[in-house]
Amino acid sequence: MNTLIVEKEKLKNNIEKIKEIASRSGKDDKGNPLKIIAVVKANGYGLGIVEFTKILIENGITSFAVSTKEEAMILRKAGIKEEILMLSASCDENELNELIEKNIILTLSSKEDAEIIEKIGKKLDKKIKVHLKIDTEFGRYGLIYSEKEKIVETLKDLKHIQIEGTYTHFSISFYDEKYTKLQFERFIDVIEVLKMNEIETGILHVCNSSAFLKYPYMHLNAVRIGSAFLGRISFKNEIKLNKIAYLESEITEIKELPKKFNIGYSNSYRTKKQTKIAIIPCGYMQGFNVKAEDDLFRIVDKLRIIKNDIKKLLKKEALYVHINNEKYRVLGRVGAYHIIIDITGKKVEIRQ
Ligand SMILES: *Cc1c(COP(=O)(O)O)cnc(C)c1O
Repeated sequence: MNTLIVEKEKLKNNIEKIKEIASRSGKDDKGNPLKIIAVVKANGYGLGIVEFTKILIENGITSFAVSTKEEAMILRKAGIKEEILMLSASCDENELNELIEKNIILTLSSKEDAEIIEKIGKKLDKKIKVHLKIDTEFGRYGLIYSEKEKIVETLKDLKHIQIEGTYTHFSISFYDEKYTKLQFERFIDVIEVLKMNEIETGILHVCNSSAFLKYPYMHLNAVRIGSAFLGRISFKNEIKLNKIAYLESEITEIKELPKKFNIGYSNSYRTKKQTKIAIIPCGYMQGFNVKAEDDLFRIVDKLRIIKNDIKKLLKKEALYVHINNEKYRVLGRVGAYHIIIDITGKKVEIRQ
């Protein structure tokens, strides 16, 4: 069996570090400290959405964001009463009604959403809470930053919508400051137009984890933090966030392989001498060696990955696992469900 072990103390430590950096930002012009909105989408980044959210609450986080209605409902069902922002937009009236009933803050992303939310608000005779999303070129949700007249047109006569926040999302903040700054400036331009037209903006937020750590001048009123809580940041950072979880598996088989015996797909390893191996039922499927940098999609990134792979090959860098605090080398390629490790000369046994 494979089990993900979450080290709560390390997670707490990360939360404290993130809160500390947020507090360095000082207070905004209304005297409010920088607000941390914890993003707990994708089953709480794999940690378990309810468990992760509860740990965050225990450690002083009071505001959350999710990507789907189902995630929002799971949190409310688990008795979580804190503020929840829904990051995806919807034109589905039933879905919007369910979210409103559970006091979830909606994302308003288009003229069509605005019309439906306004209609629902009118029917319920109340103001529906939303955050406006501006698309500063991600091409996903949001009113397009350059269509300023359309934005004003969409927002100017909304009587049953309370805009509590306005935000945008960066596409490459972990890597490209110039582009991120351009997105930031586009966002600020829209905010100015909204203010000029006396449209309420609510709190302003643009930073995800990378932007939060890299560009303090973009903090504004709130930041949306997900991966930093897990210490999963793809660039070197001074605050040394902890990796907070590891995967525990077991050995299913042990055997002796003769000399010059191939191991793994593509015959990726060949024994040099008689070798004792152990088979561990944990591969890509369970997330073994699935790397953050392989999530990058541009050709330059792919080239970078290939370059790193070649460097690793030349340096004969290998993958390792730990058994009772000792390191064991992985032989051959990682399979979908299995890895093979070298235990020659070691006293390693199958757990009974
Ligand atoms: C996922 C997400 C975040 C959090 O991103 P991290 O890089 O994990 O901090 C913030 N904002 C939006 C809109 C998101 O979808």
